[in-house]
Amino acid sequence: MEPSFDAVYYEPAALQYELGNALKQKYAALPWYPIESHNRILELSSAPNCDFAALKRHLIVGIRKTHRYVPNAKVSDWLVPFTSSGCRAMCLYCYLVCHYNKCAYLRLFVNREEMMARLLRADEQAPIPQTFEIGSNSDLVLENVVTSNLERVITELGQKGRGSLTFPTKFDMVAPLLELAHGGKTIFRMSVNPEEIVRGVEFGASPLGDRIRAVNEMSGAGYPVGILIAPVILLPGWEAMYARLLERLSAELSPIIRREGFLEVILMTYSYVQDAINSDAFPHAVPIFRRELMVGRGQGKYCYRAEVRAHAEEVLRRLTHEWLPEMKILYVV
Ligand code: SF4
Repeated sequence: MEPSFDAVYYEPAALQYELGNALKQKYAALPWYPIESHNRILELSSAPNCDFAALKRHLIVGIRKTHRYVPNAKVSDWLVPFTSSGCRAMCLYCYLVCHYNKCAYLRLFVNREEMMARLLRADEQAPIPQTFEIGSNSDLVLENVVTSNLERVITELGQKGRGSLTFPTKFDMVAPLLELAHGGKTIFRMSVNPEEIVRGVEFGASPLGDRIRAVNEMSGAGYPVGILIAPVILLPGWEAMYARLLERLSAELSPIIRREGFLEVILMTYSYVQDAINSDAFPHAVPIFRRELMVGRGQGKYCYRAEVRAHAEEVLRRLTHEWLPEMKILYVV
């Protein structure tokens, strides 16, 4: 699935980079608008919320200036600002909307050689091998269709690295990754949800069956893999929906994933900003904010009430134990 765009906003200096130049040629048929900074495009940030889907059709090309690694303690040791932020898809809960508001469109950063060199340096200087999360700001499998960056990164770390890379995805375009010399150093994590949520909430992401096929292929190609059940959304009838999802995963995931893969389970958080954008941009979409189940936790953010979370965790642990008994649950948050 090649994402389509209708216009490119670009920092002129980006065209001095190999990738900037390649994008200019690839999207030569689109209008290109120069901007001062990918962080401040007034014309877009001042657009009304109802333009959210239209804004997502724009591609932004710039140079990443912030490179601070943030310590993490889940699958990875570090969150790494990498080659893109934002996304072409429009999942109604996407936390990137909290960071970038209605400007959660896809931004590509052309200084990829600099970012890769930093990553290799951090990997080399670490006292013990580390795991670097490179996909916390965007979906790199989708980005790879536009830039082929992921192919370069996986191969380079496979050849030169000591530690590992990891990234989650909701996309199935893994064919270019299957033959790479990854050296087992890239941990691929596929994010899944029940069919009803994929269709009604995760607009623009890959269908569930395609995601299951993709993670099976990645595992078959020797990548270590995990399954993210995320975000768990407690819609009416959620217990039955997640039971069907777990049953399907049990039937369709390959034996090696069911034996050696791991699980992460993340319950949805939501925010006032997301609710405002979704109400204006997707007035007919499934309402995912359920006031009676959620509680404010400051700065306009909401999470499920403690007793609701505890019940959901118990149900999800029971279902995973029933359907995927050998897969280790790393955490439920
Ligand atoms: S695929 Fe991921 S990054 Fe893209 S909109 Fe959905 S949650 Fe956000």
